Amino acid sequence: MKYIDLHCDALTAEGVASVTMESLRAGGCALQCFAAFVNGGKGEGYARALSLCDAFDEMCAREGFSRLPRTDGGVCAVLTVEGGEAIEGDLEKLEALSRRGVKIFGLTWNYPNEIGECATPHPTLPPYKGGRQEGRAACGGEAHLHSRRPLLPRHPEEALRPKDPEVRSPTPTPSKGAGMMQRDPNSRRVLCGGEGVSFGLTPFGRECVARMCELNMLPDVSHGSDALLREVAAVCKEKGAPFVASHSNARAVYFHPRNLTDEGIRLIAESGGVVGLNFYDGFLSDDKTSAGQKAALFSHARHILKRGGEDVLALGTDFDGAPPSPYVGDPSAMPRFLSGLEKTFGARIAEKIAFKNAARVLGAQ
Ligand SMILES: [Zn+2]
Repeated sequence: MKYIDLHCDALTAEGVASVTMESLRAGGCALQCFAAFVNGGKGEGYARALSLCDAFDEMCAREGFSRLPRTDGGVCAVLTVEGGEAIEGDLEKLEALSRRGVKIFGLTWNYPNEIGECATPHPTLPPYKGGRQEGRAACGGEAHLHSRRPLLPRHPEEALRPKDPEVRSPTPTPSKGAGMMQRDPNSRRVLCGGEGVSFGLTPFGRECVARMCELNMLPDVSHGSDALLREVAAVCKEKGAPFVASHSNARAVYFHPRNLTDEGIRLIAESGGVVGLNFYDGFLSDDKTSAGQKAALFSHARHILKRGGEDVLALGTDFDGAPPSPYVGDPSAMPRFLSGLEKTFGARIAEKIAFKNAARVLGAQ
């Protein structure tokens, strides 16, 4: 069975990427999204995004990726952005990236930015100061005293391995009111995003999401806070446009702030968008064996289907953005997963999960 993958980090992989034309062909991939992962600070994001657009164009030409979906067995490549720092608070830069072919736009990575709040705790914050911080002023404060960016982990998702027992807790803290934040008693760290925090989009972020809808670009809430997801849903509802979580799982199955709440899954489904199932073990389960990871992937899939319906589930493997899973570690092993999908859910639903749902939102049928 062919498949579409909504997220990989091969463009910024350290060393040799596992996502290559060869492995994608071996796995039966029809369309692979490549994220321009922007970890830029103030004044660096857009330049980095542009250089990754160039790298993407070069890769497509060199490896023979099609820029348009094709039916001859070739592989199509689609450009996405991970990290709203890419546009440096400037809608014109968003429009320029749309012209460069960006189809999915990840509003945040693991830091808050001009667009909105992220899902995960950020022990240090990038030095965002200045004009466009109104929406998250309450979350800045003391945390903004930190100006040093943490060293990049080897894989972009590894920064998310929750070491904090508070984050790890299977019983999430109850939701707090607007403007509240949690403070780690042992440090100056402020826990933003995720459960219990209600910072979402900034005023600029709302403008930005509305413009994305007009540009036919999909706002991507993976890495965004719960409040951000809700606010994106409201803007998209007004615009009658879908939004996605390109690489996120279900929080009810495994507690992690990067995983989606049931409400989040429902809101994405109501918009006509999709949730890309993430293969990273840090979001799946505590059982890190191949069998454990397989069982967890199917539990998350079953739950997302149950909460969002059969048109919401897609794939967002996170290959090259996370350590390889012992069950399916790279595209060439995808047939193993896809045949499990067919056995578990039947051919009709398996095809929706593997490619039809993602094709629908990408306009790639
Ligand atoms: Zn990611």
